[in-house]
Amino acid sequence: MAVRDLEKIMNSIISKSFLELESVPIELKQNGARAAFMNVIYEPNINAYVISVNKRLTDPAPLNAIKGGFAHELSYILVDKTIGKKPGSTFYKRTKVDSYCDEVTADVYAILRGYGSHLLEMINYLKTSEGSENTKYTWYSGLTTPQIEKLIGEKRIPKV
Ligand SMILES: [Zn+2]
Repeated sequence: MAVRDLEKIMNSIISKSFLELESVPIELKQNGARAAFMNVIYEPNINAYVISVNKRLTDPAPLNAIKGGFAHELSYILVDKTIGKKPGSTFYKRTKVDSYCDEVTADVYAILRGYGSHLLEMINYLKTSEGSENTKYTWYSGLTTPQIEKLIGEKRIPKV
């Protein structure tokens, strides 16, 4: 999938569900995130967030899995805009607990914005996809499938 197409997917998620981020500079980089599906850092040199996408994993991924990935990464930016925690290791050292809290927080925001079922598709895809030996979901320490299912079962959680 071309960067332009990924950008279209990301921008439609922003204009539908992450309106706070509409004027925030976010750049997309393909062939990054080698140890993950996607990741995001704040890059001070260009004063922008950079979402890196693992081409090997995202190219064969279902659209909803890609949407789930973007919702999770955009949630880090939302958290930074809300409480000022810059994504990316250059700004703070992450302990395992810190990292777990960040993952869970990003998942919860993604669910609150309506992307719980997309997250489930992403997790399922990463657990079963060919070529994800290195990431094989071990990198992921956010909410578990039953926890996400429980949260999206809540009546007031939106569905997009
Ligand atoms: Zn994450």
